[in-house]
Amino acid sequence: MNPLSPISVAKFGGTSVGTIHAMRQSADVIEQNPQTRLVVISACSGVTNHLVALAQGIDDPQARQDKLAAITTIHQTILTQLPDCQNTQAEVDHWHLTIAEYADTAASAPSTALTDALVACGELISTHIFTHLLNSRGVATVRADARELLRTDSQFGSAQPDPQQTKAQCQDQLLPHLATHLVVTQGFIGADAAGQTTTLGRGGSDYSAALFAEAIEAKSLAIWTDVPGIYTTDPRIASQARPIGEISFSEASEMATFGAKILHPSTLVPAVRQHIPVFVGAARAPEQGGTWIREQAHSAPLFRAVALRRNQTMVTLTSLNMFHTYGFLAKVFEILARFEISVDLITTSEVSVALTLDQTNTQGDAPQLPDAAVDELSQLCHVDVCKQLAVVALIGNAMNQTPGATASVFNALEQTKLRMICYGASNHNVCVVVDEYDATDVVQRLHADLFE
Ligand code: ASP
Ligand code: MG
Repeated sequence: MNPLSPISVAKFGGTSVGTIHAMRQSADVIEQNPQTRLVVISACSGVTNHLVALAQGIDDPQARQDKLAAITTIHQTILTQLPDCQNTQAEVDHWHLTIAEYADTAASAPSTALTDALVACGELISTHIFTHLLNSRGVATVRADARELLRTDSQFGSAQPDPQQTKAQCQDQLLPHLATHLVVTQGFIGADAAGQTTTLGRGGSDYSAALFAEAIEAKSLAIWTDVPGIYTTDPRIASQARPIGEISFSEASEMATFGAKILHPSTLVPAVRQHIPVFVGAARAPEQGGTWIREQAHSAPLFRAVALRRNQTMVTLTSLNMFHTYGFLAKVFEILARFEISVDLITTSEVSVALTLDQTNTQGDAPQLPDAAVDELSQLCHVDVCKQLAVVALIGNAMNQTPGATASVFNALEQTKLRMICYGASNHNVCVVVDEYDATDVVQRLHADLFE
């Protein structure tokens, strides 16, 4: 057991540390909760995108220079407003030079390892600045290098964490500091067994924060972002969307998986393993409250939220050989597994199976079925690939045990062309696949009928 409990971990996203004003608001939030001992932060907003561009290799030296200048400006604008920052300035200068060197190398010899080393600089810098800010406010703060704490495999760009090793390193190197100081560390980054810098994938800071919370057996995890919690749907799509006060791990996991972009989809995995409640709120407006995600929510409404995931690909495999035989699906999935294709939704009929491809790790691009995979599948069956689709997921509770639960759903979708329906595997969701251009309308109609 952790002798220092109760400790809370707080994570601040890029917009919450993107300007001096935002940093101050985040510091206020930290100071308001004395149980917050570990703070995990992202790069200042905008920086990671610039670094990714540099990592892809910018040939034109002037264009490269411009990118570097843009990054420097973001940091300098904050630094110039902080007192006594010679030492921090020196650290930040050092990292800016490192970025410039890496960017030169990336222009001639880009690599995934270099990309991770380069994009990690955003978090390495923001933590220097934020640590300085907290100290200048009289909060005794030390900065820890996440690469010495968070152990991952060597899959650059989407490294898989090793929770056991991470826990051992955190217990060893982090806990002693937490007794006396507030500790600020980087989200998103870690290191493999050889000490090479890795990243968990875009938006991975939430996941880092949850892994740290697990490793130090924290009592709670707060994810401070730019919205006051999880909403019944994306308010940009349905203006009547409202924040949800409390939601269960199962419901929130379904939401994250099905496209609600509040949390990185893996965030809840460590929280569930260690039973850590997670709070989501807006750092610039903590008084507005937020959403608690817990193992068990006090209420369990039939319908909790509607999530939308765009840019989906559906693959339909048809084989007359499937009729009254066995082993067809096994063969299909053997091929998909060999090509490391993760399946999201699936539905079958007697002679065909339709599935959508999981997009969790593809950073917004539609997941692709490689030609070689299509060729192999084609030897087995007829393959039809359909793009420009969207998955709309209705999340709730006891859906497959409540008489008539789907009636209201189908009512709302009376006019819609439904390409696929998934229902019954989980009692927390009903998913429909629709044409991309119908998606907004479908979400609005479901929200209006079921939540307004
Ligand atoms: N800075 C990284 C990104 O922009 C990680 C994060 O913010 O979660 O993706
Ligand atoms: Mg983020």
